[in-house]
Order: sequence, then C-alpha cells, then structure tokens
Amino acid sequence: MGSMDTVALIVAAGQGARAGGDVPKQFQLLAGQPLVEHARRAFAAHPAIARVVTVVAAGQEALVAGETVVGGATRRESVRNGLEGIGAADRVLIHDAARPLIPAGIVDRLLIALDGAKGAVPALPVADTLARGGGAMLLDTVDRSALVRVQTPQAFDFAAILAAHRAWPDGEEATDEAQILRRAGHDVAVVPGDPLLDKITYPGDLALAEARLGAGMRVRTAMGFDVHRLVEGEELWLGGILIPHDKGLSGHSDADVALHAITDAVLGTIAAGDIGTHFPPSDPQWRGAESGQFLRHAASLVAAKDGFIDFVDLTIICEAPKIGPWREAIRGRVADLLGLALDQISVKATTTEGLGFTGRGEGIAAQAIVTVRL
Ligand code: MG
Repeated sequence: MGSMDTVALIVAAGQGARAGGDVPKQFQLLAGQPLVEHARRAFAAHPAIARVVTVVAAGQEALVAGETVVGGATRRESVRNGLEGIGAADRVLIHDAARPLIPAGIVDRLLIALDGAKGAVPALPVADTLARGGGAMLLDTVDRSALVRVQTPQAFDFAAILAAHRAWPDGEEATDEAQILRRAGHDVAVVPGDPLLDKITYPGDLALAEARLGAGMRVRTAMGFDVHRLVEGEELWLGGILIPHDKGLSGHSDADVALHAITDAVLGTIAAGDIGTHFPPSDPQWRGAESGQFLRHAASLVAAKDGFIDFVDLTIICEAPKIGPWREAIRGRVADLLGLALDQISVKATTTEGLGFTGRGEGIAAQAIVTVRL
C-alpha cells in the first residue's frame, strides 16, 4: 500500500454563496488562512499522499498554493477536469474545499478500505429524526436507520473513477463521486466519518470550525524592534514601499526597518532566533537585499510548523516622512508578502515630539507585534 501513488484532489471551484461573505466560501478565512489552504496542508502533510492538486475557477489559480487545474461549469465537470489533469495515479482522494478540518485517521481508514473496493467514503449515522417537510406543516417521518450522512474525502481507485467519470452521461448531474462510481457498477465501501469533516455551509459554521480548530491550537505573540540610520544618498524603503524622501535608511540590506521589525516578531513567535541568525549582516549576499524575502522566509518557518499568522501590528517611529499617505500601501504590501487579508495588518505611526534620535531625524525605529496560532 505504501508504494502506491496517491493523489489528493481538492475541489475549490464553486461559488458557495450560502456561507455568506463577499468571497467564495473556499477562500473565506479560518484561523487566518483560506478554507482551501487548511485542506491542502492537511493532505500535503499526510505521509501516504504524494501530490495535492486543487481545482479552481478560471482566474483563481493564484489564490491557491501548489498545483492547480481549472474547473468546469459544474462540480462534476470540475472533478473530471481535475482527474484528467492528474494524468496518472494509483489512487485518488477527492475532497470538497468547504471541509477544512481533516483528521489524519480518516485518510488512513479510507486507504485501507480501498484494498477491498474501488471506492470508499466516510459516513456518519443520522442522529436527528428525519421527516418530509418544506411547507409550514410537518409530513411523514422517514426511517433514519437505513440512512447515513456521506462526507468527503472520498477515496477511489484512480483508473476506475476516471473511467466512471468519462462514462457518465452529459447533462446529468451527480451529487458526489461515490454515486458516479456506483453507476459504473462498482461497490463503494463505508468507513466511520467524523463530525470534524462537516461542511462549512451556513454563516455560523465558520465560527464553529474556528472554535473546533482553536481548541487544538495555542496562541503565541512576539515582538520585534529595529532601528536604522537615516543618511543622504540612500533610498527610503519602509514596509516594502519605496518612499520619496531626501534621506534614506542605511544598513546592509535595503534597511527596511519596518519589515525587519515584523520579521523579528514572526521569528519570535516560534523562538527561531532573529533576523541576524538567518541572514547575517556579515554575509555579502544580503548587501542591498530586498527585505521582503526575509519576511517571507520567517513566515515559511511558521507554516512549516503548521502555524498561521493571525495578526500583525506595526508602529513606525519617525519625525519625517509622514507615514499616513503611505499607510495603505504598506498594509497591502505586508499582506501580500504574508498571504494575509488587509484586515489582518495594522500600520501605525508616531513621532517622538522632536526628542531623541528619531526626533532629531537621525534614524527611523519600528516595532511590531505578531500573533500566530500553532
Ligand atoms: Mg534591521
């Protein structure tokens, strides 16, 4: 089993209007990351999964990390495009991006079940009474003992599900891949599902998932502080933005004091030393270097620990230039560098009332506080 080539296919091409918000559901944030990113990381971290491919709508390729395939007009067409895009594999796990929490045990159970069937799905018994309805009055109760709630990921023999998709009649829709495989004459095994796999469908579901996720995570907060000297004949880079000024900051890299403070704060959240530990000023390769790469590196170390950056609060301390006109540009640049939303980045500025080195215009200081969840 371990030597088989297993691919995870995440379907993230839908519009998901029922969950509310002004972005498609799969890109709404959970613990600071899009829903789809949670599923992608969970699969990527599983030792049995060699490759993760995400199906997105045209134009949304850049919103998802890793390998993407453009989907079709319906869910079924999107999955078909994804399967064709995978090309070759032994097994495939097909998953909805709207189910961000994937217990590792589910993948193990599904892959074991695939040894005895061409398809396997997780399912839960139905606890509530089921009845026909739709109007104001309740109609007949339905026997729930024969019913289950089918979840994703659903696991398949790759060749069997691809053939079943190709044979499915055009113009007819399917609710999931298990239905498509059964139509092709194959049995689908059932393994115990998990309430954590429940789909984010309605606005309250996101808050519930946040609480479930938060229960297993720790919040860490750390600060960073930096100062660089203002000199003539240098460019002034602040928060990744080139700001016109009669002086610039001097230092071994581009001396972006704001990005350095944020970088140190990010590193602090995982006790990973400071910017000098990772990018020694004595190393000539960092001369004039663009500081955004330092910040991206720090963020990648948090991601490698399955952590999420939740919030960045930056304060720039100087007499001049005025930061206000550049505040939104800096927020946008920091958000881009970290892959976060604008409302996760705060940029503030203050003077020191003419006092001290910042007051005399000899340098600029910056401090940052970063909150992560690990
Ligand atoms: Mg510095």
